[in-house]
Amino acid sequence: MRNEGTTMKDSNCIFCKLANGEIPTTTVYEDDDFRVILDANPATRGHALILPKEHCANIYEISEELAAKAMKLAKKLVTEFTEKLGCDGYNIVQNNGEAAGQTVFHFHMHLIPRYKDDGAAFGWHMSELTDDQKVELLEILK
Ligand code: 5GP
Ligand code: ZN
Repeated sequence: MRNEGTTMKDSNCIFCKLANGEIPTTTVYEDDDFRVILDANPATRGHALILPKEHCANIYEISEELAAKAMKLAKKLVTEFTEKLGCDGYNIVQNNGEAAGQTVFHFHMHLIPRYKDDGAAFGWHMSELTDDQKVELLEILK
């Protein structure tokens, strides 16, 4: 579906509605391509989401150009927000697919401020890369 000039929106997508101002949001930044809102269920104080105004489900669908703009914006906002919030670090999280924890299928980047000893828990169990896996994965990936 094409509407509002060049902006592609999916009428069934909640983040399209949030990004394009059809539903009120706590907006902390907006430009022609993106709206940045506070996450409704923050992992930490100041947890925000970068939402493209154009609908794309995930990293597989987003254009290289828009993905590059999103990362550039993440850098700018993380730099500014670190100063404003007085946080000690930042996680940038971007989930693709249900198996990876994506629950809303409109590309978004989580900007999660981190505070020393904030107790926010996300991550993974670290295993050991074996020699067999090295050989196998080099054959597949390189
Ligand atoms: P995902 O798991 O897909 O990477 O992240 C989806 C995020 O969107 C979650 O952190 C969730 O709290 C947030 N979210 C879902 N629906 C809404 C909403 O209607 N408004 C806002 N502000 N955040 C939402
Ligand atoms: Zn959408």
